[in-house]
Amino acid sequence: MGRAVTMNETLYRYLIDHSLRDLPVLRELREETAKLPKAVMQIGADQGQFMALLAKLIGAKRCLEVGVFTGYSSLAVALALPANGEIIALDVSEEWTSVARRYWKKAGVDQKIDLRLGPALSTLDTLISLRQSGRFDMAFIDADKGNYLAYYERCLELVRAGGLILVDNTLWSGDVADPSKQEPDTVALRAFNDALHHDERIDLALLPVGDGLTLARKR
Ligand code: CA
Repeated sequence: MGRAVTMNETLYRYLIDHSLRDLPVLRELREETAKLPKAVMQIGADQGQFMALLAKLIGAKRCLEVGVFTGYSSLAVALALPANGEIIALDVSEEWTSVARRYWKKAGVDQKIDLRLGPALSTLDTLISLRQSGRFDMAFIDADKGNYLAYYERCLELVRAGGLILVDNTLWSGDVADPSKQEPDTVALRAFNDALHHDERIDLALLPVGDGLTLARKR
């Protein structure tokens, strides 16, 4: 089986040292977030750079983000968007997104990011009711795992044909492949992965990037 190379600390360090194109503002945000109690929720620098590349590859202008935390992914993607690009960013936490807003401003991309605080499902439903279906190029889902399928269905409605939905944590530290792990989030992620596997509305890849990154391209 042609499985991915086993990633250890040394090889990951090499990967970062030989591919990361960092900016001071990105590094500062990573470092500030690393001091927070929920630091593990931040995506890696390599993943941010990969998402920015994907945004450029598909010529993304309008993006959705479900789950902002301290704003690293939205910052990385916003920097890759054209000047008239836009991210509608959804989160429930005033506390974490206040960090995000500070860095978006510092990087000069705050005018590209429209933060909507509140439950993401209702914000997504509002966007659908405002006839925004098919109006987005890309969506990133990285929020409460129990709602992943519900977020995905709405994002699939909101992105255009050929648009991309990225979903974080789909390998869940490997727990999805261990039947003895039956925590609600693990069970939800298994159900999510199974649903996408046979979903004919998308083209699919599940990559061992970070904690598992699913790419779903709307057909
Ligand atoms: Ca995540």
